[in-house]
Amino acid sequence: PLTVDDITRIDFAKSGGLVPAIVQHADTLQVLMLGYMNADALRETLTRGQVVFYSRSKDRLWRKGETSGDVLVLDHVLADCDEDAVLVLARPEGPTCHTKTTSCFGMENAPGIGFMAHLAKVVTERAHVSPADSYTARLMHKGIAKIAQKVGEEGLETALAGRAGDLDELHNEAADLLYHLSVLLMARETGLGPVLDILRERHKG
Ligand code: AMP
Ligand code: ZN
Ligand code: ZN
Ligand code: ZN
Repeated sequence: PLTVDDITRIDFAKSGGLVPAIVQHADTLQVLMLGYMNADALRETLTRGQVVFYSRSKDRLWRKGETSGDVLVLDHVLADCDEDAVLVLARPEGPTCHTKTTSCFGMENAPGIGFMAHLAKVVTERAHVSPADSYTARLMHKGIAKIAQKVGEEGLETALAGRAGDLDELHNEAADLLYHLSVLLMARETGLGPVLDILRERHKG
């Protein structure tokens, strides 16, 4: 990840003082928007922890969300291979597009596998609502042993559907399994992050 000390390495001169900045959701990896940064905007972004662009129409630094409140909270910034573009990983506090959609690139850009990250967030929120209103809250209330048992059952159902059922059944059981697995990981105060790290590690080289 880029630090303030790396700003001088970025080739702003190549395109008249600005580099393209692609903003990606830090959890779902959905592409949210494209903006431009000059050296000041990049410095502000790194020091404030909120994404700041250089607005070509306003002709000044523009902190995303400065009027709407829909700020982009910075996770980290990466430079591309020849250091003339940046990738900004951030968590939006509201819709990123001024048309109030999550992404400037529309629904077609909605995350596929990245939905698992969104699901984890939803499941965590539901854990704190009244058990009367939420299956997740009821499950949490019953405790780890019950949640673990559900993962076992859904795992078996997925296996059976995989062996003999139609694809519709397999998809549905796999969805049940992933949902209950998400709840189990949350109940143990962890998530898919470390699981995915292990899978990535196994495929090194
Ligand atoms: P905001 O930065 O969200 O307070 O929005 C201030 C103004 O910036 C809006 O009225 C738009 O003109 C512009 N704007 C906001 N979000 C975007 C975006 N994702 N892409 C382009 N322009 C934007
Ligand atoms: Zn490049
Ligand atoms: Zn937009
Ligand atoms: Zn099932």
